[in-house]
Amino acid sequence: MDLSKHAFFEGKIVPWSEAKINIATHGFLYGTSVFSGMRAYWNEEKEKLFVFRPYEHFHRLLDSAKMLAMETPYDEEGFIQLTLDLLRTDNWRQDVYLRPTIYKADMGIGVRLHNLRDEFSMFVTSFDKYVANDSNAHLTFSSWRRIDDNVIPARGKISGAYANSALIKTDANRAGFDEAIVLDSNGHVSEGSAMNIFMVRNGILITPPSTDNILEGITRRSVMELAREELGIQVEERSIDRTEIFIAEELFMTGTAAQVVAATKVDHRPVGGGAMGPITAKLRALFDDVVRARVPKYHKWNVEV
Ligand code: PMP
Repeated sequence: MDLSKHAFFEGKIVPWSEAKINIATHGFLYGTSVFSGMRAYWNEEKEKLFVFRPYEHFHRLLDSAKMLAMETPYDEEGFIQLTLDLLRTDNWRQDVYLRPTIYKADMGIGVRLHNLRDEFSMFVTSFDKYVANDSNAHLTFSSWRRIDDNVIPARGKISGAYANSALIKTDANRAGFDEAIVLDSNGHVSEGSAMNIFMVRNGILITPPSTDNILEGITRRSVMELAREELGIQVEERSIDRTEIFIAEELFMTGTAAQVVAATKVDHRPVGGGAMGPITAKLRALFDDVVRARVPKYHKWNVEV
């Protein structure tokens, strides 16, 4: 992993080695921080770097911050400016991943959200595939349940909640699976450890609604729009039962890190014909073109560095 030479820390861009927090920091002790994971893609023909949908990422970050009663001096546009400044400082000429975080920055003991100082940090790193086997992933149903909105909101990207994702991911990997499908406490399919899920049934693209304890993914939203607009297929947001997954024609997962991961087996049962389906293949290719700013109609999603 290639880390940036610089990071944004306590109000300014500093050399990476200076971006350090104290071990008594609230966000570290209690997981009271919120974050986003964004990507910027290198376009070889244009020799330019493009950040994918930073406005939406920072909007969701501010929503997550609101849930944790956090305050920041920046709005979406301010955050985007910081992002461009940071990327330009190290003159990145490759695909990168960005990790902005807002955290409870005071030091000391005391679980609460109020009367604490909030800080913003961001670093950049090179990044390859998140799921190595992203064209024929083998999934399992996790024995863990997705955190409920009344426990820790899954809709917020809250650091502490990722202990749930880590339990899910590790148990799936150690059992030999690439990734897991997680049910919520009502028994409905929610999402993966750190990605949203889609299935195709009777030619319709279906994904759980935002009220089934999912993170409202920006890749999810993008793929839904591409499917409707470019593939002309019907997209539905509705609850999904566990057994529907076994009889789906196609199955894939989406996320900034994961991008579009085709799943071809679930708990040793083949999905559809057991190979990546045509809708998944089309969406994967189209998504890659769109994030790399190769599709003029979607340049609105590409912010040039
Ligand atoms: N669900 C969870 C739990 C995640 O952590 C992520 C990754 N951010 C996603 C879904 C996908 O969201 P996005 O497409 O915005 O990256």
